[in-house]
Amino acid sequence: MELIVDGRRLDGRGFDELRPIKIEAGILNRADGSCYLEMGGNKVVAAVYGPREVHPKHLEDPSKAIIRYRYSMASFSVEERKRPGPDRRSIEISKVSREALEPVIMKELFPRSSIDIFVEVLQADAGSRTACLNAASVALIDAGVPMKGIVTSVAVAKVEGFLVLDPMKDEDYYGEADVPFAFLIRNGKIESITLLQMDGRLTVDELKSALELAKRGAMKIYKLQRDAILKRYVGEEVIE
Ligand code: ADP
Repeated sequence: MELIVDGRRLDGRGFDELRPIKIEAGILNRADGSCYLEMGGNKVVAAVYGPREVHPKHLEDPSKAIIRYRYSMASFSVEERKRPGPDRRSIEISKVSREALEPVIMKELFPRSSIDIFVEVLQADAGSRTACLNAASVALIDAGVPMKGIVTSVAVAKVEGFLVLDPMKDEDYYGEADVPFAFLIRNGKIESITLLQMDGRLTVDELKSALELAKRGAMKIYKLQRDAILKRYVGEEVIE
């Protein structure tokens, strides 16, 4: 399958272009914080509860809050019906996503509590774990959870020898490598990498270039996350 035609990708994007992103904070009434996010064909909802009492109680930590993260795909989110419930893939994604967010949350402020993050994929189109992390970050801020910064996530793929930002389904499926990243952004600067996974094969130089491409993409997503928070709490008129 030809994925690059005349220097453009199948959906018309340049190599360093993100898919269209839409973010809305505070869409659920019962959750403490929430977010709806679209990243290309991905449509996800994040809900945050807490800090709250831990159930079951034996899981509580006397020195800090515990963080729980559940990534889950609706059965109608992919072409073939997905069997409902957790599977190996979603358990792994939940674990690495929790680890990607933990460094940003000020857990020490809430001993014996839990902060529970649920993310539901309504429609998946590659990069759903990155879309979920971006939504979860906004939902955490919407919940008023004290944070040291914000986590922003995007993938890079290698397709027909080229590195491309934010791959969609065909690029992910037929490409030579897929590398999702998450970054901790603090005071408007990328401070650290909190998630880095890789499927496939890259040279060391390609990995370095992939990191630079992902960083540029993450800064754009970060601005949209910030705008979504501002829109909810300050009103639309302040946003240029
Ligand atoms: P990510 O969504 O984070 O890229 P994967 O690389 O595992 O995670 O999956 C890539 C894409 O493959 C998903 O976004 C989704 O479109 C599709 N996919 C994942 N799991 C399934 C499944 N069980 N059935 C059908 N398609 C799936």
